[in-house]
Amino acid sequence: MTDKYAQLVNQGLGKNVAKKLGLPQPAVLRRYEPGQPLVTGPVVVLGETAAADKLAAELLSWDLDVRRHAVPREKLGAIILVLDEVAHPRDLEKPVLAAAGSLRDLGPCARVVTVSRPSGETDTPAAAAARQGVDGFLRSLAKELRAGATGNGILLDGGVEAASPSVLAALRFFLSGRSAYVDGQFLTVSSAAGSLPDDVERPLAGKVAVVTGAARGIGAQIARTLHRDGATLVLVDLPAAGDHLAAVANAVKGTALQLDITREDAGQRILEHAVQRHGRLDIMVHNAGITRDKLLANMDHGRWSSVININISAQLRINEALLASEHFGPAPRIVSVASTSGIAGNRGQTNYAASKGGVMGMVRATSSLVAAAGGTINAVAPGFIETEMTERIPFALREVARRANSLQQGGKPADVAETIAFLASDAAGGINGEVLRVCGQNMVGA
Ligand code: NAD
Repeated sequence: MTDKYAQLVNQGLGKNVAKKLGLPQPAVLRRYEPGQPLVTGPVVVLGETAAADKLAAELLSWDLDVRRHAVPREKLGAIILVLDEVAHPRDLEKPVLAAAGSLRDLGPCARVVTVSRPSGETDTPAAAAARQGVDGFLRSLAKELRAGATGNGILLDGGVEAASPSVLAALRFFLSGRSAYVDGQFLTVSSAAGSLPDDVERPLAGKVAVVTGAARGIGAQIARTLHRDGATLVLVDLPAAGDHLAAVANAVKGTALQLDITREDAGQRILEHAVQRHGRLDIMVHNAGITRDKLLANMDHGRWSSVININISAQLRINEALLASEHFGPAPRIVSVASTSGIAGNRGQTNYAASKGGVMGMVRATSSLVAAAGGTINAVAPGFIETEMTERIPFALREVARRANSLQQGGKPADVAETIAFLASDAAGGINGEVLRVCGQNMVGA
């Protein structure tokens, strides 16, 4: 589960050899630790709109060193490009070229964040072209950034203002080390719902969260991250994983629930446990998932049905039970783990990709139901993450999968967990029905 190549080319002789031979040199990413500064270095806010002024004022109130113009040869922490009023592709030129002049001054693991509006059918053709142009621009720029720097975009939908809670929360997420492995992605904020936390280091204080598949891998890390952020945890996994589950539950001072999530009454059992032991249920994280890879020509009933059952049918059933209960809420959050395989497809994974595509379709279609209950449902789609699941991939294939992204490395379970913690927070109340990829801008299906 360690990337030995990345370790080798980041120190001593290995570093020099890799440089001379032009081999990939994956940077050591800046990952979040409590107390860490949000960015390292000044933040340049480019753009001349009211939204740019508002965001610059907000960032100043976060005690950041904010500039409206870059000073040449000063190491920068981030560039924020506010493009919310572009009405014609030619409007991109001035802010984009202003950013271009500062790119060489970006420090290690710096951030570029665009703030713009999504293109829609009611836009004028020129405005739609400009807005969609931001998409192509940012995704290309993210592929040009080096040294662990990332580029991501926030889309203000349906008249949402730049100072809305979820816009500010998304900006904070993209600037911070929490988004280390999120690159080349857009996140849409579709409403002004949500509220900023009193304590930014404990945004989940007072919440009760359930995590399925929590005995190991990504699920165990989600539990640790949600606990760090203040949540009380209920950890679910198969009885066969009981010992590991108990160990994780002890570490996060939560409770363990041994349960096969494919059981008909799984939703009811989860609700009963959460309410009896902790008095409430606020956050449901659907993480449990399996792979049973085979080419479709060799697919059997067991492989197909177990993957569909565990990865998506169980989620549908559990959501139905939770949404019918008065105990889920008052601002419920559901976050499901999908996969980039469900977006791009993957040879040998017709069953898995169908289930993960299913997760994304389910999330979009459930969003209005959850909104009616005052909450949100979103998905994260991890790319290559260093876990026991990916450790089983044959060496050569694993090495290719690991490097085929803009950051030239696999992500860590913590990267998925940080994104889930963000989407589960009250501040993300204006983000609903979204799929956020945590894949280092995987070239596959990008
Ligand atoms: P993992 O195999 O290490 O852990 C999965 C956990 O789910 C296990 O503890 C297992 O016991 C549990 N589980 C399986 N079936 C269950 C059931 N019926 N009821 C209750 N628990 C059950 O996997 P991981 O790598 O940590 O992956 C976690 C999630 O992330 C999965 O949904 C996976 O599809 C997804 N994902 C992983 C990667 C990756 O690179 N590792 C990439 C994309 C998506």
